[in-house]
Amino acid sequence: MSKQHNILVINCGSSSLKFSIIDPHSEESLLSGLAECLGLAEAKISWKYAGEKFNAPLAPHSTHTDALTFVTDKILADYPQLKESIQAIGHRITHGGEKYHQPTLITEEVIGEVEKLFELAPLHNPANIMGVRAAQTAFPHLKAKNVAVFDTGFHATLPAHAYLYPLPISLYEQYGIRRYGFHGISHYYIAYKTAEQLGKPLSDLNMISCHLGNGASITAIKNGESIDTSMGFTPCEGLVMGTRCGDIDPALLIYLKQKLDLSTEETSNLINKQSGLLGLSGSSSDFRYITEHYEQDKNCRIALEVYIHRLVKYIGAYAMLLDNQLDAIVFTGGIGENSELVRRLVLEKLTILGFELDQQRNLAARFGNSGEITTEKSLHSAYVIPTNEELVIAKYTTAFFAA
Ligand code: AMP
Repeated sequence: MSKQHNILVINCGSSSLKFSIIDPHSEESLLSGLAECLGLAEAKISWKYAGEKFNAPLAPHSTHTDALTFVTDKILADYPQLKESIQAIGHRITHGGEKYHQPTLITEEVIGEVEKLFELAPLHNPANIMGVRAAQTAFPHLKAKNVAVFDTGFHATLPAHAYLYPLPISLYEQYGIRRYGFHGISHYYIAYKTAEQLGKPLSDLNMISCHLGNGASITAIKNGESIDTSMGFTPCEGLVMGTRCGDIDPALLIYLKQKLDLSTEETSNLINKQSGLLGLSGSSSDFRYITEHYEQDKNCRIALEVYIHRLVKYIGAYAMLLDNQLDAIVFTGGIGENSELVRRLVLEKLTILGFELDQQRNLAARFGNSGEITTEKSLHSAYVIPTNEELVIAKYTTAFFAA
């Protein structure tokens, strides 16, 4: 049962609120859930407690605050001890800009600074602040105990040669136009777990972390620090994703704007919501669909081929950044953790780097299992490690108040 110092972790999207109550010492998630379709007529909530799953409709057009109030007043009403055990609240904040790298106590001043970053992350930071406001309303006694953990934070170590675009330097100096990188909380967790797995200090770890979910990014980690990552100014750069295009020729957008007379919003929708696996396959952004159909559907096959081709190119390039000291490649995220197909197709291309796939191990590593998927003879190791961003946020939040 819960000890008296649990952390509520909140991760908000524009129409969703993910929550979990975590015991940061046992690392156990005691209660977790997701409110979806917020702001819409079909707003709903689902949660998991003690291995059992529940769900309920929310009042039509419920807000983030309504959803969190449902958590405190309805769900937690049945578990008063658990409710009282919450000592602090950790928030995933997408963009910290150049100002915030470390976990930060949320004050009105910090909210004001994060609001200034809205234009850098218009799809994410406003939703994150809605989550903060919701937590302040639903847990007024913990108002001084809200901590922001930034998804850009782990990439604060990117050197200038990795974060600068070859654009006029004044654009960086005046407007902060540079590569920031995202998924930092996940890449940090993966680095930490890989160091543990290899029995070496994080500061000696050299690896490539592949976070392959609906959003996807890859990070080169040298001496435990991020030295390059595939997402850039926004999470649209880099790998092929569910609906985001990843790397494209920037001049293409000028051409398309002229040719199709696209508005700013239409252009944003094109590259963020209609591209990637969905755009190429013409059917689905869901990797399970691609996996089930690529043998008979040529568009799914090409989507898979582009996905693998670009991922392999990034891995090859990042391996060259690690000065001959590659300890491991790790796959995580919904696709990285579950798709033996992606891991097999990628590792079969990496024999020149000395990787040798163990297909039995690869087949065994799915549905939350972690493990090595290369043979004993393989020059470098590849692992599957399920990510746990909520745990990182809970641990940082606890550490913040322990310090
Ligand atoms: P995430 O954003 O990390 O939740 O990952 C979502 C992606 O993981 C979606 O594209 C899913 O289709 C994919 N995924 C989940 N389970 C599997 C599976 N068993 N095989 C292939 N892809 C999967």
